[in-house]
Amino acid sequence: MYVRFISRFLSAMAGPRPVVMSGPSGAGKSTLLKKLLKEFDGVFGFSVSHYHYVTREVMQADVAKGEFLENAEFSGNMYGTSKAAVQAVQAKNLICILDIDMQGVKNIKRTDLNPIYVSIQPPSMETLEKRLRDRKTESEESLQKRLHAAKVDMEISKEPGLSDVLIINDDLDLAYGKLKDALLEEIQKVRDTNNS
Ligand code: ADP
Repeated sequence: MYVRFISRFLSAMAGPRPVVMSGPSGAGKSTLLKKLLKEFDGVFGFSVSHYHYVTREVMQADVAKGEFLENAEFSGNMYGTSKAAVQAVQAKNLICILDIDMQGVKNIKRTDLNPIYVSIQPPSMETLEKRLRDRKTESEESLQKRLHAAKVDMEISKEPGLSDVLIINDDLDLAYGKLKDALLEEIQKVRDTNNS
């Protein structure tokens, strides 16, 4: 009883569990998130990505000290999500959303973050390609890059234990319903805390 009380107290102190959203580019993460943010105003927050706020040397040192949940390098720039950035969102009683690739997910698995892992996947590679083409945001070159990255991402995501909830985004409303179900308990906690 006492142990349960303490552990509930500690988890309430830490704030709501973050949500790690993964899935290949074009799977529908932004579309689903937009719906979520619209329906649940003031429940979700985003961590500030560490990128060009600090010098490369400072960031490398912080990464070495273990202050980052995940970090990656794209075209010569370092990006990452620091533990402090996520804690700042949790401290505001907001569910922190992290949009992270599978490699990042694997890194976060090694931390004590304890998020809800949601994997958004397209019904097929063909559908993914069609959606990316129809979105008209990519050149042929960047499209091919994204498709290649998607294949790698989808392969890694098949490894067992990497997600708590797997959502195949075929019908958008059905996919959204599943996302909501997966997060409902945490959303309710945020609302209860705000009203108490
Ligand atoms: P991501 O954020 O994962 O890269 P987007 O949310 O941008 O993906 O979705 C890619 C494209 O697919 C967008 O043009 C979006 O409108 C469309 N889309 C998303 N979900 C669906 C769906 N269930 N059915 C049809 N089109 C979709």
